Amino acid sequence: MIEIDRPTDRATGLEAIAREVRACTNCRLHATRTLAVPGEGSPDTEVVFVGEGPGFNEDRQGRPFVGRAGALLGKFLGSLGWRREDVFITNIVKCRPPENRDPEPDEIAACAPYLRRQLEILDPALVVTLGRHSLGRFMPGERISQAHGTIRPIDPATGAANALAFALYHPAAALRTPDIERTSYEDVVRIPAALLEARARREAVGVPEPEPSPAPASTPEPEPAPAQALESLTESLFQAAADPVAPEDQLTLF
Ligand code: URA
Ligand code: SF4
Repeated sequence: MIEIDRPTDRATGLEAIAREVRACTNCRLHATRTLAVPGEGSPDTEVVFVGEGPGFNEDRQGRPFVGRAGALLGKFLGSLGWRREDVFITNIVKCRPPENRDPEPDEIAACAPYLRRQLEILDPALVVTLGRHSLGRFMPGERISQAHGTIRPIDPATGAANALAFALYHPAAALRTPDIERTSYEDVVRIPAALLEARARREAVGVPEPEPSPAPASTPEPEPAPAQALESLTESLFQAAADPVAPEDQLTLF
């Protein structure tokens, strides 16, 4: 069988994982959840946001970052001209820890294969970590107070074969502490540059362009959607990179 890299195939793979997650009983968190929260977003995105675990609202709705922390994450994205649907948003553990306690190491370990497989399918250029537990997966040994706003290469064993990690404080921490909220906005402004660096790094090691699908002549394929989604992300990325800092005459740089 020929391997292909079209959004429908990614979407199919991600949906298969989501179905497994919704039925999963591999750790004790399954017993207290209302709904598991596999994650959601664009199957052909370059950027994946990884939080800690579902909270009250996420557990009720089965969707990531839909409560107050989610609203702030939406504002962060909005400040870049990005939308939730442009990226993929998920968590380290897919079921809510009771009373929003920290996930236990054995729960994190039990859930790890789902995120690894999601990242294998998505093959992002950039993983944005939200908070300590996500930082621990993608920048092991780092402290959030030092690492926020910075990038590191990701260990391919995480599932992200060729990506950079960019660390943010957890939006819930920003909601509690105005200083962290301010710092987070300053960090978020650096995400487009981090993505450009991640892209350059992938090009340098010669990641092959996705093959066009080898469709037989008798069944013409529609234009693939990913180019469009990518284009709009790129457009907004360049806008975001250019707008806040560059005077008019520097726009041609981009
Ligand atoms: N906090 C998280 O870490 N993840 C969510 O999905 C929501 C809140
Ligand atoms: Fe399964 Fe992860 Fe939910 Fe635990 S947290 S039950 S491993 S999906």
